[in-house]
Amino acid sequence: MSSRAKTIFEKVIDREIPSQIVYETEELIALKDINPQAAVHVLVVPKKHFNRLAEVPMEEAELLGKLLIAAAHVAKLSGLEKSGFRVVINNGRDGGETVPHLHVHVLGGRPMGWPPG
Ligand code: AMP
Repeated sequence: MSSRAKTIFEKVIDREIPSQIVYETEELIALKDINPQAAVHVLVVPKKHFNRLAEVPMEEAELLGKLLIAAAHVAKLSGLEKSGFRVVINNGRDGGETVPHLHVHVLGGRPMGWPPG
């Protein structure tokens, strides 16, 4: 049993706070971002906690792969298959990470700029 506080996404997973869940498996959950940056903005979150991408060990490669496949699945569910979408992982301060629980952003419904801001 860990002594750290639950992350906001663990509270979502445990149904302690409301959220709009669009997809769920035994290992991951996908929910609408509370502060969407595009018409479609969904977060794919592993139920197992990792602070961030850089802390995922090689033994978890399969789970990491499933997160990406789920991201593409969610994009399809959201109607983005033809128009396209962007998948983003923010890691650490300069990466723009604000929640220390690994998650994949799925963004779409408008053209994405490059380079990213
Ligand atoms: P990041 O900045 O990459 O760590 O992304 C964290 C994301 O979580 C942000 O886009 C927030 O808008 C989103 N977020 C924070 N709290 C919630 C919540 N309770 N439900 C849904 N999305 C959230």
